Parts: sequence; C-alpha cells; structure tokens
Amino acid sequence: MSETTPRVDPVTVDPVTVDPVTVDPVTVDTVIVGSGFAGLGAAVKLDEAGRKDFVVLEKGGTLGGTWRDNVYPGCACDVESHLYSFSFFQNPEWTRTFARQPEIRAYLESVADRYRLRDRIRFGVKVAGAEWDGTAWDVRTDDGTSYRARYVLFGTGALHDPFVPEIEGLDRFAGKAFHSAQWDHSHDLAGKRVAVIGTGASAIQFVPAIAPEVESLTLFQRTAPWVLPKPDHAIPERTRTAYRRLPLLQTLNRIALYWRHEALVAGFLHPQIMKLVQKLGLKYLDKVLAGDDELKRKVTPTFTMGCKRVLMSNDYYPALRRDNVSVETGDITRITGRGVVTADGVEHEVDTIIFGTGFKVADGMAQMGVTGRDGVKLVDAWKDGPEALLGTTVAGFPNLFMIVGPNTGLGHSSMVFMVESQINYVLDAMRTVDASRAVAIDTRQDSQDAYNADLQRRLGKTVWSTGGCASWYLDENGRNRTLWPGYTFSFRRRTKAIDPAHHELIA
Ligand code: NAP
Repeated sequence: MSETTPRVDPVTVDPVTVDPVTVDPVTVDTVIVGSGFAGLGAAVKLDEAGRKDFVVLEKGGTLGGTWRDNVYPGCACDVESHLYSFSFFQNPEWTRTFARQPEIRAYLESVADRYRLRDRIRFGVKVAGAEWDGTAWDVRTDDGTSYRARYVLFGTGALHDPFVPEIEGLDRFAGKAFHSAQWDHSHDLAGKRVAVIGTGASAIQFVPAIAPEVESLTLFQRTAPWVLPKPDHAIPERTRTAYRRLPLLQTLNRIALYWRHEALVAGFLHPQIMKLVQKLGLKYLDKVLAGDDELKRKVTPTFTMGCKRVLMSNDYYPALRRDNVSVETGDITRITGRGVVTADGVEHEVDTIIFGTGFKVADGMAQMGVTGRDGVKLVDAWKDGPEALLGTTVAGFPNLFMIVGPNTGLGHSSMVFMVESQINYVLDAMRTVDASRAVAIDTRQDSQDAYNADLQRRLGKTVWSTGGCASWYLDENGRNRTLWPGYTFSFRRRTKAIDPAHHELIA
C-alpha cells in the first residue's frame, strides 16, 4: 500500500575510523554492500522476512548510491517516478512525472527512515575484498574492520566509477576539468567558456541546465544520440491528494506505466519495428530544429534507434540552438593548457572542461578482490567477461548474490523492478539453504554456461547488437554483458523461486 514519504534532508555521518589491529571480525548473517536502491531494498526485504541479522556497508557518508553521487545540474530520472520507485513504498508526493535527483535522493532517505534502517548502515566503510572460507565469507574493509558473514549481497550497481578518457595533454590543462558524476559546485560556471565532452544521458541533462549561465559552450559530440521528447510535467496538488487518499489510483497509474514501457521491448528485440519508431525521432528533429539544417545534419543519428540508450529531453535541442552554444563533431586529438584541439587543428580555447563521458562499466566487484571456492578469484572467473545466473549468482561463489549483476540492465523500463525481482530470488535461495540445513548454495557451472549461451544467442538478434553503433552495452568482443534481452515480467517469473536443478547445496 502507498505510504506518505516526508521530504527529508540527507543525513551525513562522519566515517568512523577503527584501529585495524584491535578489531575482531564482526559476525553477522548477511553483509549487504551499498545503500542505493539495491542495498536498501534488500535490507527492507531481509528485515521483513525476519532475517534481521544484517549490516549494510556503505563507502560514502550518506546513502543513495547513484542518486547521491550524481548531483550535476539538471540531473533527473528518465523513467517516471511512479514506476521508478519501490512497489512496497509508493510515494504519492512526487512533484513531477520524472522526478529530479534531489527528490529521488530524499525518497531513498525516507525509505531508510520508514524501515528504520539507519542504524543498520555503517557509513564510510568501503569493502576491500571478500573470501569464502568453506563455511562463511570473510569480508574485509579498507578501515581494517572485517565481517564474518554467511551471505554477502552486493548492491553496488554497474555505473559508479567515472570514466575520463585518456586524452593527450589533459594533465597540462590550466583551467578546471571535472566529470559529470563528480560535479564541482564550488566552480562558478557563470561567464566561463566551457567545453563539454560527450552527448550521453548525463550530458543531455546538464547541457541545457548550464547553457544559459556560461559565456560559451562547445559540445564535443562523437556520436549523435537519438533524443525523443520527454512527457515531463509537474504533478498538480489535486492529483497528489488523490493518490494520498486513494492509493489504489496510484497503483493503477503504476500498472499503466509498467505496461506502456513493456510495449517498447518489441522494438529492441526486432530492429525492423524500431526503424518505424525512428521515424518519430526524425520528425521530432525536423520540428525542433526547423530552419537550422546545419545543426540538424550534425545531430542526426547514423545508427538504428535503441542501439544506444534512447534519450529523452525537451530542452536539449533548443539548448543547442542558443547563440552561445556550438556543436563540434571533429575528433578530439589533444588538450593543451588553453583548450581542446580537434583533428582539423583548431584549438578551442576554454576555461572549463566537463566530461560527460560515462562510467567504467563494472566488473568492479571482481576488481574488489572476491575469492570463492578453491581459491578461485572472481577476476579470473570473469576473465572473458562477467557472467552470472539470472544476473544474481556466480558458479563457485556460494552464498554470494549480486543485485543489478550482469545482463540485468534495461533499455526500456525501471531498474527498480529488476532489483525487486532479484531480491525475491535471493530470499528464496536463503530459505532453501535454511530449509535443507545446508551451509551454502552454489550455482552449477553447466547451468550458468547454458543460461549465458542462450542469453547471447538472443542478444545477438537485438538492436543493441545489430543497430550499427558502438556502445558500453557491448564488451570488446561484441558480447552484451549488460542488458536483459526481453520483457521484465519474464525476468520476474524466472526469479520467483530458485530452480534446484541449477544449484548445488553444500552441506
Ligand atoms: P554515456 O551514456 O556512456 O555517454 C558517454 C558519452 O561520452 C558518449 O556520448 C560518448 O560518445 C562520449 N565519449 C566517451 N569517450 C569519449 C571520448 N574519448 N571522446 C569523445 N567522446 C567520448 O554516459 P552518461 O551520459 O554518463 O550515461 C551513462 C549511463 O548512466 C546511461 O546510459 C544511463 O544508463 C545512466 N544514466 C541514466 C540517467 C537517467 O535518467 N536514468 C541519467 C544519466 C545517466 P560515444 O557515444 O561516441 O561513445
């Protein structure tokens, strides 16, 4: 049922420093890593299931994951908030159809309050590694504390490690340079000459937000994205009141949104359908850039819509039409002390460079140093790319679970739906271990291999593989390790309960 979520300010807790020599391991049933949607959702559901002996380890001083880290101007979600929120904690107070970052972050804070999670979170504790010793996980942290846990649940997400390309001369740039996920709000952009590198989901949000205040903005575009209008609007007070009084209304809205998004899947699975939708994108470009053929030519995508994330914005193209904004499509060759040099030899003099260049797609969990059965390191198990069963468990790593693991990403709907599906699966795995009085549950390698072979076969036919673009969805071998190739209800069905045939119980 719906609950009212009061607006709250994020609470900051100073990291606790612990003397590494004197601290014994803390014994808990479950360690949850991360306090974004995945970690908080898992904490709520573990608690509700009576599995109260858990701790949440959070490297930051506050909770919220990606919605804490990304504070760039204009940051918002491109999935409607009435869908991009927990089903068990719907929020009648959303003020916009597509809430902005501060409101989403406040929502996550209110989840922590409503479910009394704050004292279960250890802030400022970064996990440095985890090792399976045959009966439990030894989870090490970089402050020297360690946790001995039967289960470990990583809710660390895939996109948190900012990617800044290695461009020759960047270290010699005399002005200010930063990444969109590490926005420096102390740096006043008013009157500055700004270079923005990248035209992804983040850049198309912050470019319109900063364009009016800067002296000039040069947008370095390597690939023109598909951008569609965003049906974003303020939610009137009377609608919020109705949702507050009649929670069923809000649930019906959520259901309608869910099915509207699911209808989009066909386009991703069948590129010929997507080519029809693409015509709408071209129409929108014609309309919004009427009379500016040169700009239209520059920003018209050359790949099939959907191959990269389809972006939504009402103010991106209008921002590009501003007198103080220009789009540069030449390759960047180097950076000098004064600016950015393109392949035609032109030096674009700027005061500030902002990288909207995305993230190093995580195999961060592997890099973190996770060692499973027989001393096998996750980094070695994943040397050909991250693979899991239903994006949640990995063969050889008993009682270890990932939320938003490999091939759980979506191009069409709310990740929170996937997160809730995976949490359900994890709880069923834990129940299975308890019921059989086993020590642990592991995934069969042959089941994992067959599952991934099937995934790759299906993914090979989708627009992500055939759409004629290079995207972070694909690894260097062209394999898609990030997205779920289908409807989210089929993922929900498959994660309803674990299939004993795909798992082994360790006595
Ligand atoms: P992104 O989508 O990966 O875009 C990165 C941009 O940087 C692309 O335009 C890329 O060009 C460009 N780039 C990368 N390296 C470059 C180089 N060496 N030279 C020039 N350009 C370069 O990153 P993002 O915009 O931060 O978004 C990342 C993901 O975060 C999204 O896909 C989405 O999943 C998520 N996100 C979601 C929302 C939301 O509303 N839900 C908002 C923001 C982000 P190419 O296209 O040529 O590679």
